[in-house]
Amino acid sequence: MSQAYEELTTRLGEIVDLGQAAAVLHWDHRTMMPRNGAGARANQLGSLSKIIHTKFADPELGKLLDEAAPWAEDQGYDSLEASLVRVVRRDYDKLVRVPPELSAELARTAAIAEPVWEEARKASDWAMFQPHLEKLIDLRRQYVDCFDPADEDYDHLLDNYEPGMKTAEVRTVFDELKAGLVPLIADVVERAEAVDASFLEGDFPIDAQKRVEGKILADFGFTNDSWRLDETVHPFASRSGMDDIRLTTKHLPDSLSSIFSSMHEFGHGIYEHGGDRAFERTPLARGASLGFHESQSRMWENLVGRSRPFWQHYYPLIQEAFSSQLNGVDAEGFYRAVNRVRPSLIRIEADEATYNLHIILRFELEQEMITGRLAAADIPEAWDAKMMEYLGVDVPDVADGALQDAHWSGGSIGYFSTYALGNVVSAQLWQRISKEIPDVYEQIGRGEFTQLREWLREHLHQHGRKYMPKELMERVTGSKLDPKPLLAYLRGKLGEIYGL
Ligand code: ZN
Repeated sequence: MSQAYEELTTRLGEIVDLGQAAAVLHWDHRTMMPRNGAGARANQLGSLSKIIHTKFADPELGKLLDEAAPWAEDQGYDSLEASLVRVVRRDYDKLVRVPPELSAELARTAAIAEPVWEEARKASDWAMFQPHLEKLIDLRRQYVDCFDPADEDYDHLLDNYEPGMKTAEVRTVFDELKAGLVPLIADVVERAEAVDASFLEGDFPIDAQKRVEGKILADFGFTNDSWRLDETVHPFASRSGMDDIRLTTKHLPDSLSSIFSSMHEFGHGIYEHGGDRAFERTPLARGASLGFHESQSRMWENLVGRSRPFWQHYYPLIQEAFSSQLNGVDAEGFYRAVNRVRPSLIRIEADEATYNLHIILRFELEQEMITGRLAAADIPEAWDAKMMEYLGVDVPDVADGALQDAHWSGGSIGYFSTYALGNVVSAQLWQRISKEIPDVYEQIGRGEFTQLREWLREHLHQHGRKYMPKELMERVTGSKLDPKPLLAYLRGKLGEIYGL
Protein backbone atom coordinates (compact mmCIF):
# COMPACT_ATOMS: atom_id res chain seq x y z
CA MET A 1 0.00 0.00 0.00
CA SER A 2 1.30 3.49 -0.75
CA GLN A 3 2.35 5.40 2.32
CA ALA A 4 0.39 8.46 1.22
CA TYR A 5 -2.75 6.37 0.88
CA GLU A 6 -2.27 4.90 4.34
CA GLU A 7 -1.81 8.35 5.87
CA LEU A 8 -4.83 9.59 3.91
CA THR A 9 -7.11 6.82 5.24
CA THR A 10 -5.90 7.43 8.80
CA ARG A 11 -6.86 11.10 8.52
CA LEU A 12 -10.19 10.34 6.84
CA GLY A 13 -10.97 7.72 9.49
CA GLU A 14 -10.63 10.36 12.20
CA ILE A 15 -12.80 12.82 10.27
CA VAL A 16 -15.50 10.18 9.81
CA ASP A 17 -15.31 9.23 13.51
CA LEU A 18 -15.88 12.86 14.49
CA GLY A 19 -18.80 13.13 12.05
CA GLN A 20 -20.41 10.01 13.47
CA ALA A 21 -19.92 11.26 17.01
CA ALA A 22 -21.69 14.45 15.91
CA ALA A 23 -24.49 12.28 14.48
CA VAL A 24 -25.07 10.74 17.93
CA LEU A 25 -25.22 14.22 19.46
CA HIS A 26 -27.72 15.32 16.78
CA TRP A 27 -29.84 12.23 17.36
CA ASP A 28 -29.73 12.78 21.12
CA HIS A 29 -30.65 16.44 20.63
CA ARG A 30 -33.83 15.44 18.83
CA THR A 31 -34.85 12.41 20.89
CA MET A 32 -33.53 12.42 24.46
CA MET A 33 -31.97 15.73 25.45
CA PRO A 34 -33.79 17.90 28.01
CA ARG A 35 -34.73 21.15 26.31
CA ASN A 36 -32.38 23.30 28.39
CA GLY A 37 -29.41 21.34 27.10
CA ALA A 38 -29.75 23.14 23.76
CA GLY A 39 -27.14 25.83 24.48
CA ALA A 40 -24.39 23.40 25.50
CA ARG A 41 -25.27 21.09 22.64
CA ALA A 42 -25.03 23.90 20.07
CA ASN A 43 -21.50 24.62 21.32
CA GLN A 44 -20.51 20.97 21.14
CA LEU A 45 -21.82 20.55 17.62
CA GLY A 46 -20.30 23.86 16.53
CA SER A 47 -16.88 22.85 17.86
CA LEU A 48 -17.04 19.43 16.23
CA SER A 49 -18.07 20.88 12.91
CA LYS A 50 -15.20 23.38 13.05
CA ILE A 51 -12.67 20.65 13.84
CA ILE A 52 -14.02 18.46 11.02
CA HIS A 53 -13.85 21.37 8.58
CA THR A 54 -10.28 22.26 9.56
CA LYS A 55 -9.11 18.66 9.29
CA PHE A 56 -10.76 18.17 5.92
CA ALA A 57 -9.66 21.46 4.36
CA ASP A 58 -6.06 20.93 5.52
CA PRO A 59 -3.70 21.50 2.54
CA GLU A 60 -1.78 18.47 3.76
CA LEU A 61 -4.82 16.35 2.92
CA GLY A 62 -4.81 17.82 -0.58
CA LYS A 63 -1.15 16.82 -0.96
CA LEU A 64 -1.85 13.29 0.24
CA LEU A 65 -4.63 13.03 -2.34
CA ASP A 66 -2.17 14.07 -5.07
CA GLU A 67 0.46 11.62 -3.87
CA ALA A 68 -1.92 8.70 -3.38
CA ALA A 69 -3.78 9.15 -6.67
CA PRO A 70 -1.43 7.31 -9.13
CA TRP A 71 -1.15 4.25 -6.89
CA ALA A 72 -4.87 4.25 -6.07
CA GLU A 73 -5.84 4.53 -9.74
CA ASP A 74 -3.63 1.53 -10.49
CA GLN A 75 -5.91 -0.53 -8.28
CA GLY A 76 -8.69 -0.14 -10.87
CA TYR A 77 -11.62 2.23 -11.24
CA ASP A 78 -14.00 0.07 -9.17
CA SER A 79 -11.54 -0.54 -6.34
CA LEU A 80 -12.08 0.93 -2.88
CA GLU A 81 -8.80 2.81 -3.20
CA ALA A 82 -9.46 4.50 -6.56
CA SER A 83 -13.06 5.28 -5.59
CA LEU A 84 -12.05 6.77 -2.26
CA VAL A 85 -9.47 9.09 -3.83
CA ARG A 86 -11.90 10.09 -6.61
CA VAL A 87 -14.78 10.90 -4.23
CA VAL A 88 -12.67 12.66 -1.60
CA ARG A 89 -10.86 14.69 -4.28
CA ARG A 90 -14.20 16.06 -5.46
CA ASP A 91 -15.34 16.86 -1.90
CA TYR A 92 -12.03 18.47 -1.08
CA ASP A 93 -11.88 20.63 -4.20
CA LYS A 94 -15.38 21.93 -3.49
CA LEU A 95 -14.70 22.61 0.17
CA VAL A 96 -11.49 24.57 -0.31
CA ARG A 97 -13.12 26.85 -2.88
CA VAL A 98 -15.39 28.34 -0.22
CA PRO A 99 -13.72 30.79 2.18
CA PRO A 100 -14.26 29.71 5.81
CA GLU A 101 -15.65 33.22 6.55
CA LEU A 102 -18.46 32.66 4.03
CA SER A 103 -19.31 29.22 5.45
CA ALA A 104 -19.35 30.70 8.94
CA GLU A 105 -21.53 33.60 7.81
CA LEU A 106 -23.99 31.19 6.21
CA ALA A 107 -24.17 29.10 9.39
CA ARG A 108 -24.57 32.21 11.55
CA THR A 109 -27.28 33.71 9.33
CA ALA A 110 -29.19 30.43 9.29
CA ALA A 111 -28.93 30.10 13.07
CA ILE A 112 -30.55 33.55 13.40
CA ALA A 113 -33.10 32.95 10.63
CA GLU A 114 -34.41 29.60 11.92
CA PRO A 115 -36.11 30.85 15.12
CA VAL A 116 -37.38 33.93 13.22
CA TRP A 117 -38.93 31.63 10.63
CA GLU A 118 -40.67 29.68 13.43
CA GLU A 119 -42.10 32.91 14.83
CA ALA A 120 -43.04 34.19 11.37
CA ARG A 121 -44.82 30.95 10.63
CA LYS A 122 -46.78 31.15 13.90
CA ALA A 123 -47.76 34.74 13.12
CA SER A 124 -48.27 34.00 9.41
CA ASP A 125 -46.09 37.03 8.72
CA TRP A 126 -43.88 36.84 5.61
CA ALA A 127 -42.44 40.33 6.16
CA MET A 128 -40.87 39.15 9.41
CA PHE A 129 -38.92 36.40 7.61
CA GLN A 130 -38.23 38.21 4.34
CA PRO A 131 -35.03 40.14 5.26
CA HIS A 132 -33.46 36.94 6.58
CA LEU A 133 -34.27 35.08 3.39
CA GLU A 134 -32.87 37.98 1.35
CA LYS A 135 -29.60 37.71 3.23
CA LEU A 136 -29.49 33.92 2.84
CA ILE A 137 -30.12 34.19 -0.90
CA ASP A 138 -27.38 36.78 -1.18
CA LEU A 139 -24.95 34.50 0.69
CA ARG A 140 -25.92 31.59 -1.55
CA ARG A 141 -25.12 33.77 -4.57
CA GLN A 142 -21.72 34.54 -3.05
CA TYR A 143 -21.29 30.79 -2.57
CA VAL A 144 -22.03 30.20 -6.25
CA ASP A 145 -19.43 32.83 -7.17
CA CYS A 146 -16.73 30.74 -5.47
CA PHE A 147 -16.86 28.27 -8.37
CA ASP A 148 -16.12 28.39 -12.08
CA PRO A 149 -19.26 29.34 -13.99
CA ALA A 150 -21.59 26.42 -14.70
CA ASP A 151 -24.41 26.26 -17.27
CA GLU A 152 -26.67 27.75 -14.61
CA ASP A 153 -25.82 29.17 -11.19
CA TYR A 154 -28.34 26.83 -9.60
CA ASP A 155 -26.22 23.85 -10.74
CA HIS A 156 -23.77 24.59 -7.93
CA LEU A 157 -26.53 24.46 -5.31
CA LEU A 158 -28.08 21.29 -6.68
CA ASP A 159 -24.64 19.69 -6.69
CA ASN A 160 -24.49 19.81 -2.89
CA TYR A 161 -27.31 17.28 -2.70
CA GLU A 162 -27.25 15.58 -6.09
CA PRO A 163 -23.59 15.53 -7.19
CA GLY A 164 -23.08 16.06 -10.91
CA MET A 165 -26.76 16.71 -11.63
CA LYS A 166 -27.56 19.68 -13.87
CA THR A 167 -30.54 21.95 -13.35
CA ALA A 168 -31.50 21.52 -17.00
CA GLU A 169 -31.69 17.73 -16.60
CA VAL A 170 -33.93 18.00 -13.56
CA ARG A 171 -36.07 20.59 -15.33
CA THR A 172 -36.64 18.26 -18.28
CA VAL A 173 -37.66 15.41 -15.98
CA PHE A 174 -39.87 17.62 -13.83
CA ASP A 175 -41.57 19.23 -16.84
CA GLU A 176 -42.55 15.82 -18.14
CA LEU A 177 -43.69 14.75 -14.69
CA LYS A 178 -45.76 17.90 -14.27
CA ALA A 179 -47.36 17.51 -17.69
CA GLY A 180 -48.42 13.98 -16.74
CA LEU A 181 -49.46 14.62 -13.15
CA VAL A 182 -51.52 17.81 -13.39
CA PRO A 183 -54.25 16.25 -15.59
CA LEU A 184 -54.09 12.89 -13.75
CA ILE A 185 -54.66 14.59 -10.40
CA ALA A 186 -57.45 16.74 -11.85
CA ASP A 187 -59.18 13.52 -13.00
CA VAL A 188 -58.80 12.00 -9.55
CA VAL A 189 -60.30 15.10 -7.93
CA GLU A 190 -63.38 14.71 -10.14
CA ARG A 191 -63.82 11.21 -8.73
CA ALA A 192 -62.82 11.95 -5.14
CA GLU A 193 -65.88 10.14 -3.73
CA ALA A 194 -64.54 6.82 -5.13
CA VAL A 195 -62.32 6.42 -2.06
CA ASP A 196 -63.53 6.45 1.54
CA ALA A 197 -60.69 7.18 3.96
CA SER A 198 -62.82 8.46 6.84
CA PHE A 199 -61.82 5.53 9.08
CA LEU A 200 -58.17 6.62 8.97
CA GLU A 201 -59.08 9.38 11.38
CA GLY A 202 -60.08 8.25 14.84
CA ASP A 203 -58.79 6.24 17.74
CA PHE A 204 -55.53 4.32 17.25
CA PRO A 205 -54.01 3.44 20.65
CA ILE A 206 -50.26 4.00 20.49
CA ASP A 207 -49.33 0.68 22.13
CA ALA A 208 -51.16 -1.15 19.37
CA GLN A 209 -49.45 1.00 16.72
CA LYS A 210 -46.09 0.03 18.19
CA ARG A 211 -46.97 -3.68 18.00
CA VAL A 212 -47.95 -3.47 14.32
CA GLU A 213 -44.96 -1.31 13.42
CA GLY A 214 -42.57 -3.59 15.33
CA LYS A 215 -43.78 -6.63 13.42
CA ILE A 216 -43.50 -4.90 10.01
CA LEU A 217 -40.03 -3.50 10.72
CA ALA A 218 -38.79 -6.86 12.02
CA ASP A 219 -40.06 -8.54 8.84
CA PHE A 220 -38.29 -5.84 6.78
CA GLY A 221 -34.96 -6.56 8.51
CA PHE A 222 -34.80 -4.33 11.60
CA THR A 223 -32.89 -6.12 14.39
CA ASN A 224 -32.37 -4.90 17.94
CA ASP A 225 -28.64 -5.44 17.84
CA SER A 226 -28.03 -2.91 15.04
CA TRP A 227 -31.11 -0.66 15.04
CA ARG A 228 -33.18 1.58 17.33
CA LEU A 229 -36.55 3.27 16.96
CA ASP A 230 -37.30 6.29 19.15
CA GLU A 231 -39.79 9.14 19.40
CA THR A 232 -39.12 12.59 17.96
CA VAL A 233 -41.03 15.62 16.62
CA HIS A 234 -39.98 15.46 12.94
CA PRO A 235 -39.01 11.86 12.07
CA PHE A 236 -35.58 11.19 10.58
CA ALA A 237 -33.04 8.38 10.28
CA SER A 238 -29.51 8.68 11.55
CA ARG A 239 -26.47 6.43 11.64
CA SER A 240 -23.26 6.47 13.56
CA GLY A 241 -21.92 3.26 12.08
CA MET A 242 -23.23 0.63 9.68
CA ASP A 243 -24.39 -1.34 12.72
CA ASP A 244 -25.79 1.61 14.63
CA ILE A 245 -28.86 2.69 12.69
CA ARG A 246 -31.32 4.94 14.51
CA LEU A 247 -34.82 5.51 13.19
CA THR A 248 -37.22 7.94 14.75
CA THR A 249 -40.96 8.38 14.51
CA LYS A 250 -43.84 10.33 15.97
CA HIS A 251 -46.84 8.39 17.22
CA LEU A 252 -50.17 10.21 17.13
CA PRO A 253 -53.19 8.74 18.97
CA ASP A 254 -55.55 9.60 16.12
CA SER A 255 -53.58 8.59 13.02
CA LEU A 256 -51.62 5.70 11.50
CA SER A 257 -49.07 8.03 9.89
CA SER A 258 -46.28 6.65 12.09
CA ILE A 259 -46.54 3.23 10.45
CA PHE A 260 -45.82 4.76 7.04
CA SER A 261 -43.16 7.13 8.28
CA SER A 262 -41.38 4.24 10.03
CA MET A 263 -41.35 2.25 6.79
CA HIS A 264 -39.97 5.39 5.11
CA GLU A 265 -37.17 5.81 7.64
CA PHE A 266 -36.40 2.09 7.44
CA GLY A 267 -35.58 2.62 3.75
CA HIS A 268 -33.02 5.28 4.70
CA GLY A 269 -31.65 3.03 7.44
CA ILE A 270 -31.24 -0.10 5.33
CA TYR A 271 -29.31 1.92 2.71
CA GLU A 272 -26.79 2.96 5.36
CA HIS A 273 -26.76 -0.52 6.93
CA GLY A 274 -26.08 -2.28 3.63
CA GLY A 275 -22.86 -0.54 2.61
CA ASP A 276 -19.70 -2.50 1.85
CA ARG A 277 -18.14 -3.13 5.28
CA ALA A 278 -14.74 -2.11 3.88
CA PHE A 279 -16.17 1.43 3.52
CA GLU A 280 -16.70 1.87 7.27
CA ARG A 281 -14.68 4.83 8.58
CA THR A 282 -14.37 6.24 5.04
CA PRO A 283 -16.42 8.97 3.31
CA LEU A 284 -17.71 6.28 0.93
CA ALA A 285 -19.98 4.84 3.61
CA ARG A 286 -23.01 6.95 2.75
CA GLY A 287 -25.70 7.05 0.07
CA ALA A 288 -24.78 8.24 -3.43
CA SER A 289 -27.02 11.32 -3.15
CA LEU A 290 -30.10 12.57 -1.35
CA GLY A 291 -32.20 11.56 -4.35
CA PHE A 292 -30.92 8.00 -4.18
CA HIS A 293 -31.48 8.01 -0.43
CA GLU A 294 -35.03 9.16 -0.87
CA SER A 295 -35.57 6.52 -3.56
CA GLN A 296 -34.98 3.91 -0.87
CA SER A 297 -37.28 5.45 1.73
CA ARG A 298 -40.04 5.98 -0.85
CA MET A 299 -39.65 2.44 -2.12
CA TRP A 300 -40.27 0.85 1.29
CA GLU A 301 -42.99 3.34 2.18
CA ASN A 302 -44.88 3.38 -1.13
CA LEU A 303 -43.95 0.66 -3.61
CA VAL A 304 -43.85 -1.89 -0.81
CA GLY A 305 -45.89 -0.38 2.04
CA ARG A 306 -48.79 1.00 -0.02
CA SER A 307 -49.12 -2.01 -2.29
CA ARG A 308 -52.16 -4.26 -2.36
CA PRO A 309 -50.21 -7.50 -1.63
CA PHE A 310 -48.61 -5.85 1.38
CA TRP A 311 -51.97 -5.02 2.90
CA GLN A 312 -53.49 -8.36 1.97
CA HIS A 313 -50.83 -9.82 4.23
CA TYR A 314 -50.75 -7.25 7.04
CA TYR A 315 -54.35 -6.14 7.18
CA PRO A 316 -55.45 -8.91 9.58
CA LEU A 317 -52.74 -7.74 11.98
CA ILE A 318 -53.83 -4.12 11.84
CA GLN A 319 -57.52 -4.94 11.98
CA GLU A 320 -57.01 -7.02 15.08
CA ALA A 321 -54.98 -4.19 16.67
CA PHE A 322 -57.69 -1.58 15.97
CA SER A 323 -60.79 -3.74 15.83
CA SER A 324 -63.37 -1.13 16.76
CA GLN A 325 -61.92 1.63 14.58
CA LEU A 326 -61.62 -0.66 11.54
CA ASN A 327 -64.88 -2.51 12.15
CA GLY A 328 -66.49 -3.23 8.77
CA VAL A 329 -63.43 -2.25 6.73
CA ASP A 330 -61.82 -4.97 4.61
CA ALA A 331 -58.24 -5.23 3.26
CA GLU A 332 -59.24 -3.79 -0.10
CA GLY A 333 -60.97 -0.80 1.51
CA PHE A 334 -57.91 -0.17 3.65
CA TYR A 335 -55.60 -0.42 0.62
CA ARG A 336 -57.70 2.13 -1.25
CA ALA A 337 -57.81 4.49 1.72
CA VAL A 338 -54.05 4.57 2.27
CA ASN A 339 -53.66 5.38 -1.42
CA ARG A 340 -56.13 8.22 -1.50
CA VAL A 341 -54.95 11.18 -3.57
CA ARG A 342 -56.15 14.60 -2.51
CA PRO A 343 -54.52 17.95 -3.33
CA SER A 344 -53.66 19.73 -0.10
CA LEU A 345 -51.71 22.67 1.25
CA ILE A 346 -48.91 21.00 3.16
CA ARG A 347 -46.07 19.14 1.46
CA ILE A 348 -45.26 16.75 4.30
CA GLU A 349 -48.87 15.59 4.48
CA ALA A 350 -49.19 15.09 0.72
CA ASP A 351 -49.88 11.74 -0.97
CA GLU A 352 -47.48 10.04 -3.35
CA ALA A 353 -48.89 11.75 -6.49
CA THR A 354 -49.48 15.35 -5.42
CA TYR A 355 -46.22 15.40 -3.44
CA ASN A 356 -44.22 15.76 -6.63
CA LEU A 357 -46.04 18.96 -7.61
CA HIS A 358 -45.25 20.51 -4.21
CA ILE A 359 -41.60 19.86 -5.01
CA ILE A 360 -41.69 21.09 -8.60
CA LEU A 361 -43.20 24.35 -7.38
CA ARG A 362 -40.31 24.86 -4.93
CA PHE A 363 -37.70 23.86 -7.53
CA GLU A 364 -39.06 26.46 -9.95
CA LEU A 365 -39.24 29.23 -7.36
CA GLU A 366 -35.72 28.56 -6.08
CA GLN A 367 -34.22 28.97 -9.53
CA GLU A 368 -35.95 32.33 -9.93
CA MET A 369 -34.75 33.38 -6.49
CA ILE A 370 -31.14 32.59 -7.36
CA THR A 371 -31.22 34.25 -10.78
CA GLY A 372 -32.82 37.30 -9.17
CA ARG A 373 -35.92 37.18 -11.37
CA LEU A 374 -38.08 36.72 -8.28
CA ALA A 375 -37.61 39.05 -5.31
CA ALA A 376 -38.10 37.60 -1.83
CA ALA A 377 -41.04 39.97 -1.33
CA ASP A 378 -42.89 38.39 -4.26
CA ILE A 379 -42.45 34.74 -3.28
CA PRO A 380 -45.80 34.26 -1.47
CA GLU A 381 -47.76 35.54 -4.46
CA ALA A 382 -45.81 33.35 -6.89
CA TRP A 383 -46.25 30.41 -4.54
CA ASP A 384 -50.00 30.82 -4.28
CA ALA A 385 -50.37 31.16 -8.05
CA LYS A 386 -48.52 27.90 -8.67
CA MET A 387 -50.51 26.07 -5.97
CA MET A 388 -53.66 27.05 -7.82
CA GLU A 389 -52.24 26.20 -11.25
CA TYR A 390 -50.77 22.79 -10.38
CA LEU A 391 -53.03 21.53 -7.62
CA GLY A 392 -56.12 23.70 -7.75
CA VAL A 393 -55.51 24.61 -4.11
CA ASP A 394 -56.26 28.04 -2.70
CA VAL A 395 -53.67 29.10 -0.10
CA PRO A 396 -55.48 30.86 2.76
CA ASP A 397 -52.42 32.21 4.57
CA VAL A 398 -48.66 32.33 4.16
CA ALA A 399 -48.09 30.07 7.20
CA ASP A 400 -49.57 27.22 5.19
CA GLY A 401 -47.99 28.55 2.00
CA ALA A 402 -44.47 29.83 1.47
CA LEU A 403 -43.62 29.66 5.19
CA GLN A 404 -44.44 25.99 5.72
CA ASP A 405 -40.96 24.46 5.31
CA ALA A 406 -37.81 24.93 7.39
CA HIS A 407 -35.38 24.38 4.50
CA TRP A 408 -34.92 27.97 3.29
CA SER A 409 -34.46 29.30 6.81
CA GLY A 410 -31.55 26.88 7.16
CA GLY A 411 -30.02 28.23 3.95
CA SER A 412 -30.75 24.97 2.11
CA ILE A 413 -31.50 25.91 -1.48
CA GLY A 414 -31.37 23.08 -4.01
CA TYR A 415 -32.45 20.44 -1.52
CA PHE A 416 -36.16 20.08 -2.28
CA SER A 417 -35.82 18.57 -5.73
CA THR A 418 -34.16 15.46 -4.29
CA TYR A 419 -37.49 14.40 -2.75
CA ALA A 420 -39.22 14.13 -6.12
CA LEU A 421 -36.09 12.72 -7.76
CA GLY A 422 -36.33 10.00 -5.11
CA ASN A 423 -39.82 9.12 -6.33
CA VAL A 424 -38.64 9.05 -9.94
CA VAL A 425 -35.64 6.86 -9.12
CA SER A 426 -37.65 4.51 -6.91
CA ALA A 427 -40.02 3.72 -9.79
CA GLN A 428 -37.11 3.17 -12.19
CA LEU A 429 -35.46 0.80 -9.73
CA TRP A 430 -38.74 -0.99 -9.19
CA GLN A 431 -39.11 -1.59 -12.91
CA ARG A 432 -35.74 -3.32 -12.86
CA ILE A 433 -36.52 -5.25 -9.69
CA SER A 434 -39.80 -6.51 -11.16
CA LYS A 435 -37.88 -7.92 -14.12
CA GLU A 436 -35.23 -9.60 -11.99
CA ILE A 437 -37.57 -10.79 -9.22
CA PRO A 438 -40.78 -11.42 -11.18
CA ASP A 439 -42.62 -12.66 -8.08
CA VAL A 440 -41.56 -9.76 -5.86
CA TYR A 441 -45.18 -8.85 -5.09
CA GLU A 442 -46.07 -12.49 -4.32
CA GLN A 443 -43.20 -12.47 -1.83
CA ILE A 444 -44.41 -9.21 -0.30
CA GLY A 445 -47.86 -10.78 -0.07
CA ARG A 446 -46.33 -13.46 2.16
CA GLY A 447 -44.46 -10.91 4.29
CA GLU A 448 -41.12 -11.95 2.80
CA PHE A 449 -38.59 -9.24 2.02
CA THR A 450 -35.23 -11.03 2.04
CA GLN A 451 -34.77 -11.32 -1.70
CA LEU A 452 -35.75 -7.68 -2.28
CA ARG A 453 -33.45 -6.47 0.48
CA GLU A 454 -30.58 -8.57 -0.85
CA TRP A 455 -31.13 -7.32 -4.40
CA LEU A 456 -30.96 -3.74 -3.17
CA ARG A 457 -27.85 -4.44 -1.15
CA GLU A 458 -26.07 -6.11 -4.04
CA HIS A 459 -27.02 -3.62 -6.76
CA LEU A 460 -27.20 -0.38 -4.82
CA HIS A 461 -26.52 -0.27 -1.08
CA GLN A 462 -23.10 -1.88 -1.06
CA HIS A 463 -21.73 0.78 -3.46
CA GLY A 464 -22.21 3.64 -0.99
CA ARG A 465 -20.85 6.83 -2.55
CA LYS A 466 -18.46 5.00 -4.85
CA TYR A 467 -20.17 6.14 -8.06
CA MET A 468 -21.69 9.46 -9.07
CA PRO A 469 -25.51 9.30 -9.02
CA LYS A 470 -25.81 9.34 -12.82
CA GLU A 471 -23.22 6.62 -13.18
CA LEU A 472 -24.92 4.54 -10.50
CA MET A 473 -28.27 5.03 -12.16
CA GLU A 474 -27.01 3.62 -15.44
CA ARG A 475 -25.31 0.74 -13.68
CA VAL A 476 -28.36 -0.26 -11.66
CA THR A 477 -31.19 0.43 -14.10
CA GLY A 478 -29.40 0.57 -17.46
CA SER A 479 -31.07 3.88 -18.22
CA LYS A 480 -30.92 7.60 -17.55
CA LEU A 481 -33.13 9.50 -15.13
CA ASP A 482 -36.62 9.07 -16.54
CA PRO A 483 -40.04 10.01 -15.13
CA LYS A 484 -41.98 7.54 -17.31
CA PRO A 485 -41.89 4.58 -14.90
CA LEU A 486 -43.23 6.78 -12.07
CA LEU A 487 -45.97 8.18 -14.28
CA ALA A 488 -46.90 4.70 -15.50
CA TYR A 489 -46.99 3.39 -11.92
CA LEU A 490 -49.21 6.23 -10.70
CA ARG A 491 -51.49 6.09 -13.74
CA GLY A 492 -51.88 2.35 -13.29
CA LYS A 493 -52.55 2.43 -9.57
CA LEU A 494 -54.79 5.49 -9.48
CA GLY A 495 -56.53 4.53 -12.71
CA GLU A 496 -57.60 1.30 -11.09
CA ILE A 497 -58.50 2.75 -7.68
CA TYR A 498 -60.44 5.69 -9.09
CA GLY A 499 -61.81 3.92 -12.18
CA LEU A 500 -60.26 6.43 -14.60
ZN1 ZN B 1 -36.77 10.64 3.56
